[in-house]
Amino acid sequence: MLQLLNLDGKIAIVTGGSKGIGLGIAELFAKNGATVVITGRNKIDLDKVSSNNSKFLGIVSDVRDSCQVNDMINLVIEKFGRLDILVNNAGILPRIKKMHEIDEKEWNDVIDTNLTGQFRITKAAIPHLQKSGGSIINISSDAGLKAYSGFNADAYSASKAALILLTKSWALQYAKDKIRVNCICPGVVDTDMTKPFYKTEKDKEFINAEHPIGRMGTPEDVAKAALYFAADDSSWTTGAILAVDGGESLK
Ligand code: NAP
Repeated sequence: MLQLLNLDGKIAIVTGGSKGIGLGIAELFAKNGATVVITGRNKIDLDKVSSNNSKFLGIVSDVRDSCQVNDMINLVIEKFGRLDILVNNAGILPRIKKMHEIDEKEWNDVIDTNLTGQFRITKAAIPHLQKSGGSIINISSDAGLKAYSGFNADAYSASKAALILLTKSWALQYAKDKIRVNCICPGVVDTDMTKPFYKTEKDKEFINAEHPIGRMGTPEDVAKAALYFAADDSSWTTGAILAVDGGESLK
């Protein structure tokens, strides 16, 4: 029988893999055969999830620091000898404020993590992905596809919109090396990042109703799309921008 979505023998890095969407992706990749390096800033969180999964290796690596990023990639190559999949997932959401209320430091912090961070890690990973003909998956957002009334997080939206364009640019630049680059734009997914927005049942109902399918997403919803892009089954798919959002961006 044809076995689909098999990641046996593949080495994956999932940035921000200690919780939320990144952890959902890492768990599904491991279930489908991959060895998964999960990264983040908090060692305690990484150790906690790594100790529950023999296919995980947790490495502390802040995407804002090129030295930490390069050391992490070097460690992965030293340990496993190859890299097949990179998921650019680590990200932060700033406080919701109108544009004229954001100061430059807040703006720069978000761009440094959500955009320059993805540049740093992808740059360090490319020489190794060129050897394996690997797959890069960028986690953008519905907020990168369109503006939403009341969602005033301009640095975040700008970083996510830029990641959509970079997906297409990197897909073109590295297609000859058989590196595929694809992008997922989630709607609201139930994670620590979004929990502060639905503390009450009424808020939850409001957010669920924002999605035509009638509910917000789970990390697993996003992980299933990432698995398709990671596996060789999608070998003819590159530069794709996939909304996994319960239809939110259609409104
Ligand atoms: P989350 O639960 O807050 O998890 C964020 C992850 O990123 C954590 O593992 C965190 O670990 C890591 N991280 C943050 N800053 C980092 C840094 N400087 N270096 C390395 N790791 C860092 O968030 P999430 O909801 O799962 O979001 C994951 C991605 O999906 C983000 O890019 C987010 O923008 C995107 N997204 C989320 C939603 C949503 O509704 N949840 C919707 C659309 C897109 P440490 O804190 O230990 O560093």
